[in-house]
Amino acid sequence: MSNETIECPDCHEVNTPATIRCARCGRSLETDDQRRIRLAKIEQGRRDAERDSANFPRLSRTGPFNLARSVDAMSSQRLRRILLVIAAIGVGLVVRIIVG
Ligand SMILES: [Zn+2]
Repeated sequence: MSNETIECPDCHEVNTPATIRCARCGRSLETDDQRRIRLAKIEQGRRDAERDSANFPRLSRTGPFNLARSVDAMSSQRLRRILLVIAAIGVGLVVRIIVG
């Protein structure tokens, strides 16, 4: 940041340094670089806020995810039980055929 005053190119009002707009006519006194830096800071702040708010859904997303995993575990247990019943029936049939 320079400490020099900024003279408005339109009305030649002498503005204090770091003034974004002319005090008299409201003309933007920012250089392209200054604007880019200012907008980049705003953008960065917006991204930070977005990232912070994105952390909440991400945390709550683990809930349903864990639930889905436990449902998977439950159904695979049920599947194993069903397979055991089928195997038992199969063994019973084989035994019946052999003994038959
Ligand atoms: Zn001006």
